[in-house]
Amino acid sequence: MGWVTTEHPTREELDACVQCGLCLPVCPTFRLTGRETASPRGRLHAMSAVGEGVVEVDEVFAGLLDFCLGCRACEPVCPGLVPYGRALEGARAEIAEQVPGRKRLRRWQTTTILGSRAALRLGSLGLRIGQKLGLLRLTPARYRRITSGLRKLGGRGQPTLGHAGGSGEAGTVGLLAGCVQDEWFRPVNRTAVTLLEMAGHRVEVPRSQTCCGALAAHDGKAGAAHVFAGQNEEAFERYDMVVATAAGCSAHLAGYEGLGSSAADITVAVARAIDDGRLPVSEVDRGEMVIQDPCHLRHAQRVVDEPRRILEAAGFRPVEIDPVALCCGAAGVYTMAQPEASETLGNQKADQVRSSGVTRVASANPGCEMQLRSHLGDDYEVAHPIEWYLAALEEDGRGDD
Ligand code: SF4
Ligand code: SF4
Repeated sequence: MGWVTTEHPTREELDACVQCGLCLPVCPTFRLTGRETASPRGRLHAMSAVGEGVVEVDEVFAGLLDFCLGCRACEPVCPGLVPYGRALEGARAEIAEQVPGRKRLRRWQTTTILGSRAALRLGSLGLRIGQKLGLLRLTPARYRRITSGLRKLGGRGQPTLGHAGGSGEAGTVGLLAGCVQDEWFRPVNRTAVTLLEMAGHRVEVPRSQTCCGALAAHDGKAGAAHVFAGQNEEAFERYDMVVATAAGCSAHLAGYEGLGSSAADITVAVARAIDDGRLPVSEVDRGEMVIQDPCHLRHAQRVVDEPRRILEAAGFRPVEIDPVALCCGAAGVYTMAQPEASETLGNQKADQVRSSGVTRVASANPGCEMQLRSHLGDDYEVAHPIEWYLAALEEDGRGDD
């Protein structure tokens, strides 16, 4: 039948692959299996075969793409500049359309729940009670990596949604509160507001915003993702800069046609303010800190230096653990969808952290943070680079009192 939606991978996207194989050594699923069909080149080949009418969009084709993490490690090394992430989203939209009934629950999770603040609040309340009563260890094995990697949900302070403050002499910033981010990682959003206002920005968190749509897009729900994007483009059209504190969300925002270059990850905004002298640099040596690169920061946005500069400004010495920068196995809903591969990758990443001998870790993405905490256990402290930075300023007596 071939492709049936307008989202499908285009001939131009697929023909950009020159079959060189340079992407194979950086692809986590190829490294796990050694199989060409689990490589970027193999997956692009399968997409081309669908386009030529040789292969159907069926369970076999879907299985090849389900196993892909969507980490986009294959993009920076590609001499053909294949837009793999875009092609993958297009192929997944085809799967959602042509393989009916597949993972209906998952698609419901990535659109209905994430688009509804009420549903998120209710779910978070249930998790908070479960955490308090010690019931989360009873969750089914498939979800346990998520529940064991959660931060403590009590005492998170007020949501940032609706906040407005700051002088604005350095311009206005619209903050994407995120769906899960403002419920489970509220301290990261609150830290972002504090630092951006310290840096001279007017910060607003408009109530009219919604989920960024990244998980929906990655899951083949292109229509829902477009609706989310349209609502956010309207909510954020009047700001100088639009910032998200989760790397997965900022990567997706950067792809909105209506926002263009105004979208930025919080690490970029804070590092820029430090470089401009709008935020201070600590003189205190606080020792070593492991830095973990979320794929949607490093590969999708090519943001590598900024989190390191923030940690250095806080007085930490960043410790590198991963010369190939492999995915930690969190990858959106991958822990639930592909638990075995996710487990192997999570263990590998945790072993790399352990072998550094450092127990403090900086990660700029909620999924990676949960995966790291779950695999490393309570002896390790994992937080966002901006949280480490603000805590250091407060220790120095230079926070925003
Ligand atoms: S690196 Fe790019 S061009 Fe080379 S095989 Fe991989 S996707 Fe194709
Ligand atoms: S997105 Fe990641 S897992 Fe998927 S093909 Fe590219 S490198 Fe491999």
